[in-house]
Amino acid sequence: MATTEILEQLIKDPDKLKNLVDEVKDLAFLYGIVFRTHETPNSSEVVTYAPFTLFPSPFPKAAFLQALALQTHFNTLVNKISQDPDFLEEALAGTVQADDFTAKLFDIYRKVQQEGRTQSIVVGLNRSDYMVDQREDGTVSLKQIEINTISAGGFGVSDRLSVVHRHVLKSVGLLEESRSVPDNNRTPGMCAALAKAWELYGERRAVILFLVEDIELSKLSHRYIEKELWKRNIPVIRRKFDEVSRNGSLNADKRLFILLNVTQNSCRSRAVKCPDISTHLAGTKKVQQVLARPGVLEKFFPDQLQVVEQIRATFAGLYTLDLGPEGDKTLTMALTAPERFVLKPQREGGGNNIYGSEICQVLQGVKDSTARMAYILMDKINPTPVQNYLLSRGTPLKITNCLSELGVFGAYVRQGKEMVMNECVGHLLKTKSSEHSDGGIQAGVSFLDNPLLV
Ligand code: ADP
Ligand code: MG
Ligand code: MG
Repeated sequence: MATTEILEQLIKDPDKLKNLVDEVKDLAFLYGIVFRTHETPNSSEVVTYAPFTLFPSPFPKAAFLQALALQTHFNTLVNKISQDPDFLEEALAGTVQADDFTAKLFDIYRKVQQEGRTQSIVVGLNRSDYMVDQREDGTVSLKQIEINTISAGGFGVSDRLSVVHRHVLKSVGLLEESRSVPDNNRTPGMCAALAKAWELYGERRAVILFLVEDIELSKLSHRYIEKELWKRNIPVIRRKFDEVSRNGSLNADKRLFILLNVTQNSCRSRAVKCPDISTHLAGTKKVQQVLARPGVLEKFFPDQLQVVEQIRATFAGLYTLDLGPEGDKTLTMALTAPERFVLKPQREGGGNNIYGSEICQVLQGVKDSTARMAYILMDKINPTPVQNYLLSRGTPLKITNCLSELGVFGAYVRQGKEMVMNECVGHLLKTKSSEHSDGGIQAGVSFLDNPLLV
């Protein structure tokens, strides 16, 4: 592979490598691929380049196209699950008993169900993540890691990394290859869904509210999204969670007002949510595991066996740890060969999964109690490592064995029962050193990347 030869040349020529790296860091700044720093996440004075790979990573074109083609079906699936209270109730019954975090989400869900919904428009912005599994017989297959219906970041400031990567390939003489880095339209695509929902809300003075956390590492990406919305003359405001709970109020019509300084013990407003609580729950790892059970996908796509097969082909082995014989079987399997699996709690954002011998430690501690139902077990996917340089501020330059994960962005809008928009709007490749089991850009483990389609 041509990039391998180039890497070998660069390893032997440190000056050339340094010049190239300095140049691409400058390009990252020129194209606005910038991040706030971990030391000063809330400062508007200090930025650095977002962590990214020097080269785009080879990715099988067939698997890439397969993932893109599936996205609207995954949007449909999430959307259907979110409207199926019996399914959510049953799928999450054990998890809610064992896991406080999911239990709190489920409480909100129940309250909303009891009060009755006040808003029939929902926006879904999600990202389905995959790795390419290298099987022992030499074949490869696309396997889904998870679907994110919340915490589905990775668009915004990094949108133009494809331009930087094409430049890197050209500048080392790989002109032909530079055409194999696909374009992306993810931020405008995601914003189109928000804009559509704003339009449907039907109030010219309505604003889109970004609910933000205290630590604002991703603020510049939010700004990029805000800019897209302002371009469409849609006003955007940002507020922290506690500001909304302190200063928010609902009028008789349940419209949410933030600026008035009134507190009210109210539940859910008429605002269009992204995601709403049921869509949030549809993205839990427990739901992912239940979907992999025989016959469950068929229930959501009753007359579309082909869709069922396409979706199922991307599922890795997923196993319940609920109390009962099936969960007991999972337990024995995990304790016998922990290196074959990943143990997952119901959390997001990287750094929460359990691997290797730690799986045994954790399972030994919970195996005889309801606490084990907080987890699911999943087959470990094994992508082929590829060499690359990982660039982040203050990190020494060294050739690294890397693993990549492809994310595909989906955007949809539903009004009542009708899907008024359902699209696949782009992709993201995240790459990490093979020394790390877990991932996450914010966690400082994963690096922004692009697929080089092969
Ligand atoms: P989160 O919601 O925290 O991102 P993920 O399920 O995506 O949780 O897991 C985090 C990371 O762990 C992934 O980005 C991937 O690098 C790794 N990982 C998760 N599941 C698997 C798996 N089945 N096989 C191999 N690696 C995995
Ligand atoms: Mg996630
Ligand atoms: Mg993830």
